[in-house]
Amino acid sequence: MRTALITGGGRGIGAAVSRRLASEGYRIILTYCNSGKQAEMVVDDIRNTNIDAVAVNCDVTDIREVALLATHPWIANGIDVLVLNHGRYDRVLAENLEIDHLRRTMATNFEGAFLVWKAVQKHLEDDARICVIGSQLGTRGSPHGADYSASKAALATWARSLAQSVAPKGQRVNVIAPGFVATDILAGDSAEKRTSREQEVPLKRIGTPEDIAGTVAFLASNDSSYITGAVIHVNGGLYLP
Ligand code: NDP
Repeated sequence: MRTALITGGGRGIGAAVSRRLASEGYRIILTYCNSGKQAEMVVDDIRNTNIDAVAVNCDVTDIREVALLATHPWIANGIDVLVLNHGRYDRVLAENLEIDHLRRTMATNFEGAFLVWKAVQKHLEDDARICVIGSQLGTRGSPHGADYSASKAALATWARSLAQSVAPKGQRVNVIAPGFVATDILAGDSAEKRTSREQEVPLKRIGTPEDIAGTVAFLASNDSSYITGAVIHVNGGLYLP
């Protein structure tokens, strides 16, 4: 039985990834921090398709909770796909950023991903595929998210370093850098803001969580067997580095 572990898999992009990998036959372990109800709904939906799934409460900034996650028997049996998806984006103007806020963002987006990988590392199969959800802002920066952008830049650079280190074993590590995706992160947009975002994207639409989940499925498949250390921008042409 192939197993996929998805952090923050209970809502938004993570929920779409959990559902997509389940549809490809993976047994799903998804983690949540605050959204237990939504996570259980995703698990129920997956179980209704006759695929095993479980939700585990884990704040990725808490090293003890991450250590506990790694003791789950499904993880001990071996992980085929690890999706480091969790993240926070608080929209703080770069010039107003305080050190506590920067630390909190780094602890979640960057160190949290590192902690999860570190804790489950010994359970990753020799051909494991690791997908890291970065952001276009990790390359281009943002006046409303210097902390977020820096955390995603660190995450991507760490992932590319890891890719080079574990490649001889057969493991692959890739980064997906989404543009605008319709999740709670954009839920605060006014109708005007939403329209202006759509107009800004050359493909003239906001991305869906399923757009990102499809790319994760590709990176988890053998169709991407020669791709590692890549940053794949999934953004409708919004940003072309
Ligand atoms: P959401 O805000 O909808 O979801 C964020 C997820 O991260 C939730 O599952 C949440 O869990 C989890 N999370 C947050 N903090 C922690 C924590 N301390 N420990 C464990 N889990 C945590 O965002 P998206 O689905 O949009 O984002 C998913 C990823 O995609 C993120 O990494 C984000 O940065 C990235 N991204 C999103 C873009 C977008 O436009 N939506 C654009 C570019 C990148 P819970 O709810 O249980 O607390």
